[in-house]
Amino acid sequence: MNQAKSHFRSELAIIPSVARVIAALVFVVMQICLLGLVPHFVHGPDIPPMPALVAISLVGGFIVAVIILMIGYVYADSKRRGMNALLWTLLVIFVPKALGFIAYFLLRKPLLIPCPNCGAEIGSDFRYCPKCGHALTPTCSHCGRSISGDYVCCPYCGKPVAAQATT
Ligand SMILES: [Zn+2]
Ligand SMILES: [Zn+2]
Repeated sequence: MNQAKSHFRSELAIIPSVARVIAALVFVVMQICLLGLVPHFVHGPDIPPMPALVAISLVGGFIVAVIILMIGYVYADSKRRGMNALLWTLLVIFVPKALGFIAYFLLRKPLLIPCPNCGAEIGSDFRYCPKCGHALTPTCSHCGRSISGDYVCCPYCGKPVAAQATT
């Protein structure tokens, strides 16, 4: 459970500081407008009583701030996954009913990993590093298909794996 918590925290850490600042500003401005200005300038029976206004203002401000932080998260997350960050950010902003967010979390690519040989950012499903040609998963040197590192012989062509690895 602690691991899930720290994972959640490290995910939050990627939210750009611009998004944090905007979220905080929007929250403060909403409080000022709803609590400071509305009771002074709007009069009549339509205006809710002060406690209700405080609740609406806090909850509303919180929700808007969270949405802004999530948009910031999508931007940073899509960027580190090698996706089109601008396109996805615009999608989650303009597609209504949170459908953009749902589509993003369903369709996002797996995280990039560093190549153990040259350190370039590469897709986690790559078999070879496109930058340096390093083989990322063990492959049978006879038939070229990817195999598990603990196999004694290739399950596809039957050639011994260990003997090829030592030569
Ligand atoms: Zn590489
Ligand atoms: Zn093979």
